[in-house]
Amino acid sequence: MMSTRILISSLVLVAAFACGDGSEQKPAPEAAAPAAEAAAPEAAAPAANGAPAAGRIDAARVAQADGAEVGSWLVHGRTPSEQRFSPLTSIDKSNVKNLGLAWTFDLGSRRGVEATPIVVDGVMYLTASWSVVFALDAATGKELWRYDPKVPGEWGKNACCDVVNRGVAVWDGSVFVGTLDGRLVSLDAATGKVNWEVNTIDRTKSYTITAAPRVVKGKVIIGNGGAELGVRGYITAYDPKDGKQLWRFFTVPGDPSLPFEHPEMEAAAKTWSGGEWWKVGGGGTAWDSIAYDPELDLMYVGTGNGSPWTRSVRSPGGGDNLYLSSILAIKPDTGKLEWHYQTTPGDNWDYTATQHIVLAELEIGGAKRKVLMQAPKNGFFYVIDRATGELISAEPYVAMTWASGIDKATGRPIETDKALYGDSARMMFPGPLGGHNWHPMSFSPQTGLVYLPAHDTPFWLAKEKEFVIRPGFWNLALDMDTVVERTEAEAPPAKGMLVAWDPVAQKSVWRIEHNGYWNGGVLSTAGGLVFQGQGNGLFRAYDDKTGEILWEVQSQTGIIAPPITYAIDGVQYLAVATGWGGGSIAGGLDETTAIAKHHNEGRVLVWKLGGTGQMPANQPQNRTIPPPPVLEASAEEIALGKSTYSQYCLWCHGFSAASSFLVPDLRMMSAERHQAFEDIVLRGALKGTGMPGFEGTLTAAEVAAVRAYVVGEAQKAYEKQQAPKN
Ligand code: CA
Repeated sequence: MMSTRILISSLVLVAAFACGDGSEQKPAPEAAAPAAEAAAPEAAAPAANGAPAAGRIDAARVAQADGAEVGSWLVHGRTPSEQRFSPLTSIDKSNVKNLGLAWTFDLGSRRGVEATPIVVDGVMYLTASWSVVFALDAATGKELWRYDPKVPGEWGKNACCDVVNRGVAVWDGSVFVGTLDGRLVSLDAATGKVNWEVNTIDRTKSYTITAAPRVVKGKVIIGNGGAELGVRGYITAYDPKDGKQLWRFFTVPGDPSLPFEHPEMEAAAKTWSGGEWWKVGGGGTAWDSIAYDPELDLMYVGTGNGSPWTRSVRSPGGGDNLYLSSILAIKPDTGKLEWHYQTTPGDNWDYTATQHIVLAELEIGGAKRKVLMQAPKNGFFYVIDRATGELISAEPYVAMTWASGIDKATGRPIETDKALYGDSARMMFPGPLGGHNWHPMSFSPQTGLVYLPAHDTPFWLAKEKEFVIRPGFWNLALDMDTVVERTEAEAPPAKGMLVAWDPVAQKSVWRIEHNGYWNGGVLSTAGGLVFQGQGNGLFRAYDDKTGEILWEVQSQTGIIAPPITYAIDGVQYLAVATGWGGGSIAGGLDETTAIAKHHNEGRVLVWKLGGTGQMPANQPQNRTIPPPPVLEASAEEIALGKSTYSQYCLWCHGFSAASSFLVPDLRMMSAERHQAFEDIVLRGALKGTGMPGFEGTLTAAEVAAVRAYVVGEAQKAYEKQQAPKN
């Protein structure tokens, strides 16, 4: 089935581990007032027709992103090419050390914040956790309006990777947000009032939306997530005027007894064999990246891992399992597939290809090529001809055990004997968090380099001996007892880094190692600067050519979101949202970091040259383990508790019951919580906050065993804490 276009497949999965929270963390109804120096609020000029100008983005304005609109940040990746490079030059290598806070704004949330703000006509639009939308004066931080979609707390358990949201799209006076519980909402950009709202999912399934919608050729495009729990992926185009569905593209085939929804599904179905993947959903969710080339009129969408992960369970007869872990080139008017490239055929490892897709022109072999670049979870950096899908080059950007390279003729990875886990476990490099996750990279046309937030996150995988579907919960087809035991005991420490990657030579030019592996997205500018926040709260500017640190500030809150820059009245601003979380909610916290001593405050930080604002003081968070209760339990009961915990609790509450403090650390439970444990875990006493009830899934004996295991872990941690320190 090869045509003149080169068709390749792959699957990549982005695992993030998301959760409801069981504590405070829904945003407080009132946000704190902005701090710092107030400039005069910028009144938006009226549009030509006299209507308020708020959010009047159209294709003509987007086309002026490097011209008249250079001070705006109109679309998610600044331009539809998603380079996240700003031509602004007021802040440069010589003066970046003079940056000071212009203003800050508290988002009122303590969960992960992944948003890229949109800035247009002096207004900043962004989202916090739980899909809450804010409109702020971009010069002063004054709140203009907020919109809370009131996502039910219990929906949090459907999120693999925290109750995050990556931002809004703004178009023709409307603001579009996808909510965690699968709704697409249109808001009036001037007031925040709801224009319309549509449901995009089967509400009996564990779907989520965390991506920012994109407007492509006047259509609102949105996908979804949920492939860890078990769903079937698709993306949908809606009419921005009224929310009418225009087309839907499924990414994997459904129930074979039903007709194919579109011709691409007939082709895809031939690559699935045996098994009953449709009962678990199949996966392939398009939960993040979308880029658009208006000249080729092609929209590029990345798809995710299989449901379940283990391919010998999902498709025991083999096959590539299209269109898992693929880059899809789709016509935005019709939803028709033009070409696809599967980065991980027959994905088996959560190697999603949903990672950020960047479009650029590169000179390769003496010729200018229109390329697409992606660093999916599988650890290879791909340069692909974006007109045809032809592979130009692919080389590893992180440590790798599963493949020895990419076959240049077929575009397929060459799997090693370390790739296939079965009854015997394998340690995977990259692990399911990937060599790169959702955190956006940036391409500077000035240096020709891609600045890539990468990590080495080794992880053990082992196949579940007898897969049983757990409706509404995680369905990976992994033997979690073995996964947890070997990962805890044998996986080397994970590492995070910022890599400056030459996409033509396919090699790193410089590489900075961070403390902690889970860090922020990246911005590069024509001022010769690269900006990135870190999980440990540091926010830094680097020299784009050398990686030299030119400026840094401690935000006190872990940063995972990507920074942006914009200009108002000739003043260049630099902005980033804080709030650690996302895929690493189950672990990865560096105990030496600021976030380990303070609450995880979701906040917008905005700097300018000579700014004199003060960083707000975060509230300290008590992380002292209290004396655990005395509890008699047999070794068998504790083993049952650990096994049950690993299957149902670990992805939110962490390895060894040690959480990242975004959700309650179970080793710190009060006597009252211990007393109410069965009510909470079995009957859902805290479900409004995000902690689901497990009645019908777990027995009272299993819940008691989980508590016995947690108390045992608390005892160990308490003894370690109380031991005399040298
Ligand atoms: Ca995944």
